[in-house]
This record gives sequence, C-alpha cells and structure tokens, in this order.
Amino acid sequence: MNPLAFLEGEVAALRAQHLYRGLRVLGSAQGPEVEVDGRRVVSLSSNDYLGLTQHPRLRAAALAAVAEFGVGSGAVRTIAGTLTMHEALEAELAEFKGVPAALTFQSGFTANTGLIPTITGDGDLIVSDSLNHASIIDGIRLSKAARKVYPHADIAALAEILQEAAGRYRLVLVVTDAVFSMDGDIAPLPAIVDAAEAAGAAVLVDDAHGSGVLGRHGRGTVDHFGLTGRVHIQVGTLSKAVGALGGYVAGPVALREMLTQRARPFLFSTSHPPAVVAACREALRVMQDEPELGERLWANTRRFKAELAGLGFDTGRSETPITPVLMGDPATAMRFSDRLLDQGVFAQPVVFPTVALDQARIRTIVTAAHTDDQLDAALAAFAAVGQELGLTTSRGTA
Ligand code: PMP
Repeated sequence: MNPLAFLEGEVAALRAQHLYRGLRVLGSAQGPEVEVDGRRVVSLSSNDYLGLTQHPRLRAAALAAVAEFGVGSGAVRTIAGTLTMHEALEAELAEFKGVPAALTFQSGFTANTGLIPTITGDGDLIVSDSLNHASIIDGIRLSKAARKVYPHADIAALAEILQEAAGRYRLVLVVTDAVFSMDGDIAPLPAIVDAAEAAGAAVLVDDAHGSGVLGRHGRGTVDHFGLTGRVHIQVGTLSKAVGALGGYVAGPVALREMLTQRARPFLFSTSHPPAVVAACREALRVMQDEPELGERLWANTRRFKAELAGLGFDTGRSETPITPVLMGDPATAMRFSDRLLDQGVFAQPVVFPTVALDQARIRTIVTAAHTDDQLDAALAAFAAVGQELGLTTSRGTA
C-alpha cells in the first residue's frame, strides 16, 4: 500500500476545480521577452521592475565575487558564514533606508518569518491587514502573540482595535504590506502611522514591491510618503527590483542585535553566496546612478494601465506597476492566460489560495526593460483575447 496515495486524489481535485497550476518553464534568461514552450514571448510576469536581473554591472560584480570568493558561503551567519561583504551590504541597506541598522535574510519570506516571532510573544498583540503577504501570515502563526486582522486598508477599523488595545500589551505591532502584491494598491501609510502613534503602537511595513519602485532613487514607500523615522521596522526584498535574491529587516540597532541572537532562519540556514551579495550591493549603486530606470518603469506603467483600462478591462485599485486584470472565475483566468500565451504574451493567472476563490485574475507587471513595441504587442493580445472570451467588446467594456 502506498501511504502517499491520497496526494494523487488531492491533485486530481485541484485539476477538476481549475486550481491546479502547472509550472511554466522558461528556456531563456529572465527579461521583457522570454522563451516559453520554445517560443519567444513578451513577459508580463516577472518582478524584475528595473531590469536589474540582466544588468551588466550586476553581472560583472557577481562574476568578480565568484572569482575571488567562490560560489558558496559555507556556513550560517552565526558560525563562519559572515563575510565582510555581508556586513557591508547591511550597512548600505541601512543607509538606503535612512535607518540605523539592517540585517539580511535568505529571502523576503524568511525575513518576515524570522522577524515577527522574534520580536513578539506572549503578552503582545499583532494587528495585521487582511490582504498581507503569506510570509507575514506565517510569521504571525509562528508567534505566541495575540492577533487581530483588520479589513484591508480600513483605518477606522484599525484605529478601533488600537484604541481597545492601548495599555493592555507589552507591544502592539501593526503590520502591513506597503504595496499589495496581488492588487498593486499602496497602503495608506500616513494614516496607519498616525493611528499607531496615537495608540503607542509600533509599525512594521513590508516594502517588497515598493523598494526600487517608489521613493527617491527607489528608497521605497516609507520614503515616498516622507515617513522615514516614523515607521519602526521595514522589511525589504532583494529578489524583485534589486534583481538578485534575499530579504532584509531595517530598523533600530537593538532590533538587528536581537535578530542576530534569535531569528531562526538567520541562525539556522546558510548565508548568501558571494555572487548574490555582490550583485545586491551593485544594484543599490545602479539605482543611485541610473534614475532613468525608475522613470522608464513609471512611464511604461502609466501607459500600460491607461490602455488596459481603455480596452475595457477591470484593473481594480492598482497604483503601481502591478496591474491586475480582474476576471473572478479561475477557469476564465486560466483560459485567458493560455490564450495570451498562444498570442505571444506570458501573463500568469493568479487563483486561490493566492487570492480569494472568486477573485481570480491575470496579474501583469511591466518593467523598465519593456520597449514600446513589446507593450504594443502585449496590449494587442489583451484586446484580442478579451473580445474572444467576451470580457470586452471592440469599443471597450462589455
Ligand atoms: N513580502 C511580500 C509583500 C512579497 O510580495 C514577497 C514576494 N512574493 C515577499 C515578501 C517574499 O520575498 P522573497 O521573494 O524575497 O522571498
């Protein structure tokens, strides 16, 4: 008897509900055009906001690091896996964020799951937006703190929870994505910070999709709102706009120190290889030296959003380069994505459990690397498939 036989049934059930997602395999480098199933197609599915995954300066920095330091770091940070370059990157990240200290993690995901249970526990309260990222949710699950979830971006509900909590906990920690990864909307950070300050609560902002995209030279959403110094903790990723891999926590020195003592992914999982660290450091310099990348990202974003809306698609509440095209039903989103691919456009569907069952969508992200011709081709494909599947008419909304 096969004790894992139940898995086959579960997979079959997912397929029957149109919730099984096959992995799309790229036969080429990441970029505005990629090879899928042997064909070159325009990609709208990466988080490579500034095109840095392929930037010559990052490639050169990574190669030089391999030549000098080899391929692996060989140990966890707390044993023998901290090189000078790891600490240099952290100092540069702290400066980039305008805060005293930063600590890197293997990914943005492990930054959240390492951070949240380290700084909260019995006697604390975590207050979390209902659409926060899975890594925040898992970080909260790993904590012994009490938790309350407020409806997405609902400041009145948040303020009510905070008022009720005042004085009853050692720490009240408000946690929010800065840019929501499936809808592309920006958290109302000024109001969140005001509400938290009024109640003596701390604020943790996960800026995975805002760093490199918003703020001066891509410093992020906190900088964009002029809130530096009023947000206690920022989490960032090195895997999206920065173009490589990793995550970090930025904030006070004592926070960094505590994380080096207790954050489990930091203590128990091997540190970044040299090539990754070198590429991340170079990315921060490129963001400083080449503001035109951010300008191009936003020009492409404005154009793509306006034209998608003009075609009659529902793009929800997005304010950033993440533009969802809402469809509701998972089968439609899957079919739409397949038909786009037939037309030379790679745009992945997002279905349950990443979004609610009736909130299936195609999620698009334009980057600084997309040319006008590539965006033209993508928009033409959306127009054709929208009409074919009856989501839009030739004149706009159906
Ligand atoms: N937080 C948010 C809001 C994200 O969107 C993501 C990426 N999906 C992460 C954290 C995780 O980042 P990483 O890919 O570096 O693990």
